[in-house]
Amino acid sequence: MAEAVCATTDPELWHGMGGELTKAKKICAACPVRPQCEEYGRELEGDASHGYRHGVWGGTDAKTRTRRRKQARPVKADRDAQILRLAERGVSPKEIAAQLGITDRTVSRVKQRAA
Ligand code: SF4
Repeated sequence: MAEAVCATTDPELWHGMGGELTKAKKICAACPVRPQCEEYGRELEGDASHGYRHGVWGGTDAKTRTRRRKQARPVKADRDAQILRLAERGVSPKEIAAQLGITDRTVSRVKQRAA
């Protein structure tokens, strides 16, 4: 992601501890690709247990992503249904991703799973 603010900073901040993570989250707050980054991080981690999550993705730490993953399960089903409805209407994957604040990859994955 060319717009990633972290591309011009110390990468260790995103994998550090305590104060470093707080600094990373503050930098993420101003990043234009934050929603896509958080989504990408969640996709990479999938259903991994908390112990296998680390670092900051889209301004979220491992604890936050673990909590959101648990809370998002029913929402994810609704989102997937929405993706399929939009795709059936002929909306392009790029437009679907932009409307729902997710990545093109998520749209493709949901469509492939439903096929
Ligand atoms: S939101 Fe993602 S891409 Fe943006 S600064 Fe944070 S970690 Fe980097």
